[in-house]
Amino acid sequence: MSAKTVGVLALQGDFEAHARLLRELGAEPRDVRTATDLEGVDALVIPGGESTTMTLGIEREGLAEPLRELVRAGTPTLGTCAGLIMLDRDHLGLLDVSAERNAFGRQVHSFEADVEVEGHGTVRGVFIRAPFVSEHGVEVEVLAEVDGHAVAVRQGNILAVAFHPELAGDARFHRFVVNGGAP
Ligand code: GLN
Repeated sequence: MSAKTVGVLALQGDFEAHARLLRELGAEPRDVRTATDLEGVDALVIPGGESTTMTLGIEREGLAEPLRELVRAGTPTLGTCAGLIMLDRDHLGLLDVSAERNAFGRQVHSFEADVEVEGHGTVRGVFIRAPFVSEHGVEVEVLAEVDGHAVAVRQGNILAVAFHPELAGDARFHRFVVNGGAP
């Protein structure tokens, strides 16, 4: 079986950490900066970073529609932190959730917590100015909560987490996308 090609949105943010993890899994990461880069990818990762900057990059490169088409076609997709925000109702509109930015308060820019994620086990969650899901539609499954707030969700082929598994070196979610959306 040939290695799966996983597109990693590489306009801004910690895309290199994702690429490293994907390589360790035997997948072939591909930096995505233009619509052409999306051709033929088997899975997609939208990394953490700064959602405002990422939105501008997506607009500049005309990437919104190509990304929507790819994800709506059922491509297994992982969004982490700002990646979760990019997938929400107010951005790409692919996840039926409202994400609140910097939701854990100004005082708590960053923290770590063990998070029990349904179907994936306990993960060390690295939260950096993290969002949470403040509201979601019926199709959305909440897989984990911190302080009563949803921090991991799944809707069909899309998995999104408010923290940074790539910074904890935790490859479980990446394996999920590489395996075609199976945990
Ligand atoms: N606070 C960032 C935003 O709102 C997300 C932070 C992150 O991805 N670590 O875009």
